[in-house]
Amino acid sequence: METPGNLFVVAAPSGAGKSSLVKALLELDSHLQVSVSHTTRAPRGQEQHGREYWFVSPEEFQAMVDRSEFFEWAEVHGNRYGTSRVGIEQRLMAGDDVVLEIDYQGALQIKQLFAHAVLIFILPPSWQELEQRLRRRGEDHADVIAQRMVNARHEVAQARHFDYVIINGLFETALFDLKTVVHSQRLKYVTQRRAKSTVFTALDLA
Ligand code: 5GP
Repeated sequence: METPGNLFVVAAPSGAGKSSLVKALLELDSHLQVSVSHTTRAPRGQEQHGREYWFVSPEEFQAMVDRSEFFEWAEVHGNRYGTSRVGIEQRLMAGDDVVLEIDYQGALQIKQLFAHAVLIFILPPSWQELEQRLRRRGEDHADVIAQRMVNARHEVAQARHFDYVIINGLFETALFDLKTVVHSQRLKYVTQRRAKSTVFTALDLA
């Protein structure tokens, strides 16, 4: 599907800093909109229904799968997560840029549907640093952290299927890299022709 808006998909193993990077990017870029996913997992800490996620029961989630209401969905760490079609298609058709913060399985599904989607993978600078970040977060028990580290090996191996790779060693550098990817996408000929059609017409450019 080709749309006037750009679709950015950001994936990473847990602890690589994906959420903080996307949050910072959204604060800097008012033209970018985030999609709120559905999940069967329970809310953590201060999370709110409709803000971080739409928290639904496994039955509600399955009913949405049966009604083909998801662009993509996947099971991650024992829970199901999905991006609903509602809203995204309209926003992209209206020319808005949308960012999805999802796991690699979902990202690869999106690439099948939207060949033009820009897939960005965030890597930690090392395995040691990833483990330290998971511990510092203090959200999970040692056995959960150990499982996340096992999963991370498999997830990181998927980076080769992505268009861009950002190493999140220094946060500010990684944020600059992320902004650069978004900006370069907007400078592509086809995107510029769409966004600046009056200039293109005045210059007799097709
Ligand atoms: P968490 O439970 O820590 O918020 O998220 C676990 C993982 O699920 C993260 O990698 C997150 O990006 C991913 N995730 C969140 N929403 C979606 C979604 O809609 N689809 C897919 N495939 N993964 C998602």
